[in-house]
Amino acid sequence: MPKENYHYHCVNCGKDWDAKEFRYLCPDCSKGNSIDAPPKGVLLMHYDDISHVEQYSEDELLLQFWPLESRTSLPPLKIGHTPLYTFRHLGEEILEYDLLIKDDSQNPSYSFKDRASTLVSAYAKEHQIDTIVTASTGNAGSSLAAVCASQQQKAIILLPKAAPLAKLVQVEMYGAQLIKVDGNYDQAFDESIQLSEKNGWFNRNTAYNPLTIEGKKSVSFEIYEQLGKNIPDLVFVPVGDGVIISGVFKGFEDLLKCGLIDRMPKIVAVQAEKSANIVENLHSDNLSFPAATTKADSISVDIPRNFYVAKHFLLTYESGTITVSDQQIMQAALKMSSSYGIFPEPASAAAFAGYLKYKEEQEIARNSQVLVLHTGSGLKDVANALSFLEEKAKDNKQD
Ligand SMILES: *Cc1c(COP(=O)(O)O)cnc(C)c1O
Repeated sequence: MPKENYHYHCVNCGKDWDAKEFRYLCPDCSKGNSIDAPPKGVLLMHYDDISHVEQYSEDELLLQFWPLESRTSLPPLKIGHTPLYTFRHLGEEILEYDLLIKDDSQNPSYSFKDRASTLVSAYAKEHQIDTIVTASTGNAGSSLAAVCASQQQKAIILLPKAAPLAKLVQVEMYGAQLIKVDGNYDQAFDESIQLSEKNGWFNRNTAYNPLTIEGKKSVSFEIYEQLGKNIPDLVFVPVGDGVIISGVFKGFEDLLKCGLIDRMPKIVAVQAEKSANIVENLHSDNLSFPAATTKADSISVDIPRNFYVAKHFLLTYESGTITVSDQQIMQAALKMSSSYGIFPEPASAAAFAGYLKYKEEQEIARNSQVLVLHTGSGLKDVANALSFLEEKAKDNKQD
């Protein structure tokens, strides 16, 4: 018996759709979607009858709040359950609050994306689907390739030719079929949908398959458990398409709806200045999407695929937005690596850069808990780190 304790909810029209069949987008709102604007009709999964949830362990929570029959369909790899570190210093500076780093680079493919791939793969397994396709800037693809390898599923990955080398190599080492697209991520996205429609493959595309937001929310359940059934005060999340941040909101919202917590943390969206199309369009009806040029490849998107859902959460709950320059991102990567021994890729360092900027501009309450979400390993993109170090060495010589 497939589990049907949930329904799909569209944030654009507010309509609910039953769970009798799998749905990608809201059938009504997606009708007018075109490739030059964020898609409408991205669906959230809302669970029925959860108000009576009382005490649950983390794994039970996930089974309650994921559309899965059994934990045996989950990949055998250790996904999630990542470390949450607490620091009271920043370099030389003593902090009067807890700085928490949730280290999701400690996932099998070294990025946060494994949380989404896990649920997509497990759901596919329960529904006897053995081929999954995705478009990706790099991490979603290498993640799906790893998870599918562990589940004996076939993965087909479309990446822009210009994706960082490590991510391209990962995909092939994990045995997935790699399709290099002569274009950017947005083109890979559209091609992958055509392919899945033509061949009947399951599509993992972020903000297209609703299981991606659902999978990513597991981080919030974990944080809640790791803090002794508590929530942090402030959370910094790096944002590209806006799926991770929606997952973070959704996880805490599930906890709120079932009464396990009584308030939401303040969640701050951090974008690169040169790819800030969610932050810049948040309060405007006149949307505009200049091309992204940031070097932080994992958050470099022209048209944010999850714009409407991210906007919905950012405007519904207490939140904030920050943009950071590429220079600030690389400086933050160095600061984080040299202060804590945790080396982030540029997209992930953006969250830390956002925290550093916030802290310059606003008072952070004494003894509060400030969490930075670390989403990807620095080893995935050493080229950017190397050119930053070389520039720095040159500047030092000139001084
Ligand atoms: C995908 C990704 C992000 C951004 O997530 P979105 O859902 O696109 O907002 C941030 N950091 C890393 C390392 C990623 O791979």
